Amino acid sequence: MTTTGYPHLLAPLNLGFTTLRNRVIMGSMHTGLEDRFYNYGKLAAFYRERARGGVGLIVTGGISPNRSGWLLPFGGTLNFKGDVINHRRVTNAVHEEGGKILMQILHAGRYGYQPFVVSASEKKSPISPFKPRALSEAGIEQTIRDYARCAKLARQAGYDGIEVMGSEGYLLNQFLCVRTNMRNDRWGGSIENRMRLPVEIVKRIRATVGPDFIIMYRHSLLDLVDGGNTWDDTVAVAKGLQHAGVTILNTGFGWHEARVPTIVTSVPRGAFASVAGRLRREVSIPVVASNRINMPQDAEGILLRGEADMVSMARPFLADAEFVVKAATGRSDEINTCIGCNQACLDHTFANKRASCLVNPRACHETELVYAKSAKPRRVAVVGAGPAGLSAATVAAECGHDVTLFDSSDSVGGQFKIAMQIPGKEEFAETIRYFRRKLDLTGVELKLGQRVTREQLLAGGFDDVIIATGIKVRRPPIEGIDHPKVLSYIDVLQKKVPVGKRVAIIGAGGIGFDVGEYLLHDPRHPLPLALDVWAKEWGVDLAGGTSGGLITPAAPEPVRQIYLLQRKTSKLGAGLGKTSGWVHRAVLARNGVVMLSGVQYNKIDDHGLHVTVGGEERLLAVDHVVVCAGQDSLTELMPSEEEAKSGPRFHKIGGAALAAELDAKRAIREGAELAASL
Ligand code: FAD
Ligand code: NAP
Ligand code: SF4
Repeated sequence: MTTTGYPHLLAPLNLGFTTLRNRVIMGSMHTGLEDRFYNYGKLAAFYRERARGGVGLIVTGGISPNRSGWLLPFGGTLNFKGDVINHRRVTNAVHEEGGKILMQILHAGRYGYQPFVVSASEKKSPISPFKPRALSEAGIEQTIRDYARCAKLARQAGYDGIEVMGSEGYLLNQFLCVRTNMRNDRWGGSIENRMRLPVEIVKRIRATVGPDFIIMYRHSLLDLVDGGNTWDDTVAVAKGLQHAGVTILNTGFGWHEARVPTIVTSVPRGAFASVAGRLRREVSIPVVASNRINMPQDAEGILLRGEADMVSMARPFLADAEFVVKAATGRSDEINTCIGCNQACLDHTFANKRASCLVNPRACHETELVYAKSAKPRRVAVVGAGPAGLSAATVAAECGHDVTLFDSSDSVGGQFKIAMQIPGKEEFAETIRYFRRKLDLTGVELKLGQRVTREQLLAGGFDDVIIATGIKVRRPPIEGIDHPKVLSYIDVLQKKVPVGKRVAIIGAGGIGFDVGEYLLHDPRHPLPLALDVWAKEWGVDLAGGTSGGLITPAAPEPVRQIYLLQRKTSKLGAGLGKTSGWVHRAVLARNGVVMLSGVQYNKIDDHGLHVTVGGEERLLAVDHVVVCAGQDSLTELMPSEEEAKSGPRFHKIGGAALAAELDAKRAIREGAELAASL
């Protein structure tokens, strides 16, 4: 592997007793596969591909040291000798590919979704229904022993070390902060007492596993909650952990209950790296930067500026197993970039489903979704170069088929070209860049600016025709819908039709919320938002000093008066992603958007939008009404029954197959699955 391009990122790291092949860590992610012994073969295949792709150090999803530490009932454990055999499959796979792997030990504390939860004190978390029991002195001693036993078993299972999860508000973070630690014994009160548990755990693990085993500790540098630690506390803990025997200090930002986003796509890239840099000046062991780092040039910049010794990326390795090898061989433009959407990873995890990736449906399905060379290559036409068509065309070509991709527009991307106009969704452009490159690499014949007809497809000599033409926007039958005040979201986002200061948005799905954010964007702040602007908006004290790293957010000056409306009586935005929806709701709420549910639309005229809400007629005196009322499938190219009897096989995917509840996750997955099965 050459080191051209990213010399710092690709430089080995000598830890004394072992050397890591580069500075890239694949951070811990709960995939859902680690919880069941029968899935360890799939888990091993998942990690094998990432190790083969060149990552320096892999960290597994969280494995609890005991039953009270479970995040979910019957979560993954390594408590007994019998568990070792499963984990061996994982470590063997990684070592066979020349990689190294740590097992993360995670005790969820009061974040556990199960009845045995324990914590420092009996304070329930806002994100779990179960009230914890405060650990007794004996319980604490048992917990320390459980961590040490878990680490010992990890060594027996062939891991190169362990990571102790100490951030994101889990048990050790709960002991560290007065927010959750109200004890007045030797485990509570001063920071020396509050840090006693993590420090004792590290000491006991080190004594158990010996000096030549990596102990990485994920330390919370900014808790981003009231009652979080000050910077001085954070440094004191880091020094205590170093003294106790930690090899590498990983970093974490924000508890799960924090109301500051830390990893969604609207968080600027590398937002927290400077904080890791400050810690690095306080300790003498390697420090890792993490959170919203998704491309090699960003990671290289962090190392070059001396903000860290290593860089941890987690979701980028769901998106692309070959991230490192592509960076190392001058092929960064081939990286399938994580766009920070959380739709197939964290949203799945929180719904207790197997994780995957919106831009790479093979993630965690490596043994099931296989892009094998076809024994009988076929001539394939794909119509529509949106996410569904791009996915189908590139996978089909990768499988050896002869593929022609048509789109009526003059560039590829479909609705993603519109989505990337939304503030905070700039990353979506990376997916288009990835597919554009992949079309070249796989040899897909691209025919742009061509609105194909059914006749052309029937006469084109194709074996298969894949209709991926997406959707047409829905125009609800409201009186006055043709009034000049009425715009579609396409008019606003794509055609850039000027919009007045007072706006009503009909429809509060993902696009209604996105249009709201677009119309609220203050043009004084260029996109993507600069880090200081973002930090002020969310009240983050990156320079340190305040408890939890929080300051009062800047009061917004809304650039428009917006009404966001839906007919349903449920809460607005209920269907948005579990881990990102709250961010969109918070942005709109702090900009004074009036959100109304149970709305009946009566008419639109020169005065504005006339509605009935809660039995009362109201006039919303707005300059424009923007319609975001969903879509219907565009299927005009599908053959008649008669035509289907002969000629090519026709298939429908993405929006063309079903417009309801369509998202890019489904569109890309359907494209890949169909193409792999041709
Ligand atoms: P499309 O993207 O609609 O692509 C269809 C393509 O077919 C188009 O390029 C069109 O030009 C072409 N076409 C149509 N007819 C013909 C013809 N006869 N001949 C040739 N070409 C033709 N999804 C998410 O998952 N997450 C998000 O955060 C998200 N945000 C969004 C924000 C906005 C503002 C918008 C508008 C959409 C967003 N989406 C999001 C939805 C996502 O973009 C769609 O689900 C996805 O693009 C659907 O993919 P598709 O390939 O089925 O259709
Ligand atoms: P959507 O989520 O289906 O929302 C459509 C909205 O229009 C709903 O609020 C619906 O609410 C309303 N509506 C439906 N029919 C109507 C009618 N006849 N008259 C008036 N209102 C009507 O669709 P979308 O917002 O257009 O988004 C399209 C897809 O893109 C979604 O499936 C979504 O997954 C995806 N997307 C995702 C994100 C994301 O962040 N994950 C962002 C943007 C888009 P009522 O029926 O209650 O009025
Ligand atoms: Fe990244 Fe979205 Fe894939 Fe998760 S689903 S890894 S956030 S691109």
